[in-house]
Amino acid sequence: MRKKIVAGNWKMNKNYNDGLSLFSEVLNMVKDEVRGEQIVVVCAPYIHLNSLSALAKDAKQVFVGAQNAHQEAAGAYTGEISSEMLSSVGVRYVILGHSERRQYFGENNALLAKKTDAVLQNNLKPIFCIGETLEERESGKYFEVIKSQIEEGVFHLSADDFSKLVLAYEPVWAIGTGVTASSEQAQEIHAFIRTEIAKKYGSDVAENTTILYGGSCNPKNAAELFAQKDIDGGLIGGASLKSRDFVDIVKTFN
Ligand code: PEP
Repeated sequence: MRKKIVAGNWKMNKNYNDGLSLFSEVLNMVKDEVRGEQIVVVCAPYIHLNSLSALAKDAKQVFVGAQNAHQEAAGAYTGEISSEMLSSVGVRYVILGHSERRQYFGENNALLAKKTDAVLQNNLKPIFCIGETLEERESGKYFEVIKSQIEEGVFHLSADDFSKLVLAYEPVWAIGTGVTASSEQAQEIHAFIRTEIAKKYGSDVAENTTILYGGSCNPKNAAELFAQKDIDGGLIGGASLKSRDFVDIVKTFN
């Protein structure tokens, strides 16, 4: 059975003390809520990762994630962080290809393929984001865009490595806008992604791949989205900054 995941993406929010308080609250509130194949991940800014990992050490189904990693193992890349460094402080997941990284930092599918390799080489799990812009949706090109994002970003992987991946469908027009994809729109794309995975790696791999939805997910709309056959949880931005909202989203699993 594939894993169900609710992952928070704090983006560039929370100073050190505020981050610690938020994470401690989340940890306390979720510890009796996650069970079976369910997992909670909190993807925080780099400065928090070491401390959050220490806090999460005994929480079996709560993990810490980063929001990016450099593609090289080490070297003269001022300001960057490698996957090996992340791994050394207990990080387990890394968001790659978030639309903000693609838009503001020029990350393209070819670069993201290299980052995916670096993350996997260090035994971390990529949460690989894909999704179309509003213009691409309105022009009807969105299936094509999503297909090329997965083909160029992650379809070079062996089936074994691909199985370690989490995918997140995040329509760019729904991120931070308060506009959520309808459950039908999201399910349509999730089913499409799973079909493409089945064509490439076979139906067993496809059935076992966790595909998250992200884009203005909140405690009110999460249950309907997560009830869709091919939606296995969510990547949560704004609502992950409030412990109550984030935990209410986690609770919709039950
Ligand atoms: C995100 O940034 O991954 C995201 C889904 O943001 P929000 O929930 O705020 O739309």
